[in-house]
Amino acid sequence: MRIVVKIGTSNITYPTGRLNIRHMEALCKILSDIKNSGCELIVVSSGATAMGVGKLKLSEKPSDMPGKQACAAVGQCELMYTYDKMFTEHSHTVAQILITGDDFKDKTRYENFANTLERLLELKALPIINENDTVSTVEYGVGDNDTLGALVATGVNADLLVLLSDIDGLYTSDPRKDPEAKLIPRVEEITDSIMALGGGKGSALGTGGMATKLGAAKRCMAKGIDMAIINGARPELLYDLIEGKAAGTLFVGRK
Ligand code: GLU
Repeated sequence: MRIVVKIGTSNITYPTGRLNIRHMEALCKILSDIKNSGCELIVVSSGATAMGVGKLKLSEKPSDMPGKQACAAVGQCELMYTYDKMFTEHSHTVAQILITGDDFKDKTRYENFANTLERLLELKALPIINENDTVSTVEYGVGDNDTLGALVATGVNADLLVLLSDIDGLYTSDPRKDPEAKLIPRVEEITDSIMALGGGKGSALGTGGMATKLGAAKRCMAKGIDMAIINGARPELLYDLIEGKAAGTLFVGRK
């Protein structure tokens, strides 16, 4: 089974931009275990910008592009250092891949990316992908890692893309505002009414939200790939998804 797991900024950092050690440790342990079980695993991880904000001791994420890019440049080192340290504890070797929207459009660059990824999987390394934020801008970038996760999952023909969120999945309305909101466990088709549930932003330090997650689901489903949204605070749900049990919201790929 080939699985792409997208880890969001709010899964591994606090609003201060500092590392959420408890979440990060739990995640790396479970992902290592899943890899040990024989699954092919690719991680798409956000968090570079936030960790740069934390490391540079800024009070908030800069609003200008060079400011965000500088934070991402600082934070990407910290992010990979942390993954390297935590996965090494479980005897896994990580590999960093930084990519932009343009790399998906240019045939040669895309082939190089795909070939490297396949070889890393053959070598049993754990690829950890992020957008190359230093050179990505709104025009040239993928823009958010939910979309990046879907581009990777469809590109490598994954069986499953899992987006880790800070809520349990897709709800009938915003559960932070509406106590009557109900979790939708399974989506077979992205209709206009499902798309309309995608309003609202995610965390202050990240980029994605429910809208980008629904966009990612659309891409995956069209290519026959299942996608799930689960709460990153409960990484053990990954086991359920792999065993075909219900967890979070499952978007069923068109077969
Ligand atoms: N590439 C950004 C980062 O690592 C995150 C993009 C996103 O949050 O979707 O900070």
